[in-house]
Amino acid sequence: MVLTPALRNETDAAVRPSDRLTDRHGRRITDLRISITDRCNYKCVYCRTGNDGAVYAELSIAEYLRMARVFIALGIEKIRLTGGEPLLRRELPQLLRELSALRTLDGEPLDLALTTNGHLLEEMAEPLRAAGLSRITVSMDAVDADKFARITRVPGSYQRVLAGIRAAKRAGLDPVKVNCVLLRGFNEDQIVAFAKFSREEGVIVRFIEFMPLEEDRLWTPESVVSLREITTALNSFKLLVPLAPNAASETAVRYTFDDGVGEIGIIAPVTQAFCGHCSRVRLTSDGKIRTCLFSQTDHDLYGVLQRGGSDDDLAAFIRRTVDQKEARHHIGEPGFLKPSRSMVHIGG
Ligand code: SF4
Repeated sequence: MVLTPALRNETDAAVRPSDRLTDRHGRRITDLRISITDRCNYKCVYCRTGNDGAVYAELSIAEYLRMARVFIALGIEKIRLTGGEPLLRRELPQLLRELSALRTLDGEPLDLALTTNGHLLEEMAEPLRAAGLSRITVSMDAVDADKFARITRVPGSYQRVLAGIRAAKRAGLDPVKVNCVLLRGFNEDQIVAFAKFSREEGVIVRFIEFMPLEEDRLWTPESVVSLREITTALNSFKLLVPLAPNAASETAVRYTFDDGVGEIGIIAPVTQAFCGHCSRVRLTSDGKIRTCLFSQTDHDLYGVLQRGGSDDDLAAFIRRTVDQKEARHHIGEPGFLKPSRSMVHIGG
């Protein structure tokens, strides 16, 4: 029987390494990303380029919680809630409250995180904080209001997101991270402006290399603004000083500036892949496990639950699935296949 942390007591034997999720490449899987909706109130040009029209199901909070508990009993220590746009789910604070009450195999609080486009954040920052969220990541691809509206295809979006970021800071969410996907020809001219934004607003700005996860066929190797280009642009503004990673599995390369003001991260999955330390799996809004962003297949965990599966059945399915986790992505290699789902239907 799967002993979820709540079921473990002092008399149970210590947690064995074999209790913890590990893939066949020897990587410990400690990080679960749960998409709680693939609906979104933005239509960002590098994500929802086409109109694949696909709308996947959303599950109940209780169903996500049940699956999350089994993952936690298998060694998950960090849960990031994503979407689509997770703030569109009214039950989000309830889910956060329930998750923040759970403990890892080691009896520690879960590391809870959330990624949002920030459009609803001004009014939601306090309730999210009160529900147990301690930090937040906001997707924002320009600090120029017109350019931002062209990217999101939503008028007035910049002012909403900026107000949301400031409300998050006032609510005590810390750190507030701002993720910017760089796309050549769209926003590579925003790099230095974002460096200034990081210093003025006291947020951590992270630049992300564009990955082939969009709905249509916009991605080309030339559309990628590489880590090297980003550091060159930033150093033209102020000298970058490398910072140590927070954890081995951290995806961002971290920097501050020579005066110690501001923090920048660069996530470079295309030019500096970090698959060797990957500790992540994803649960889609309709309850499918994706072992890698670039998987060609989904694994229907929710189906096991629907068929009346026990926690043991769910755990066994998760273990078998994680064991098949891909070693790495093959972006830009001959024969590279785009994943079977686009980013909006996977969750960040
Ligand atoms: S591409 Fe796949 S294996 Fe590589 S870091 Fe991302 S999720 Fe992990």
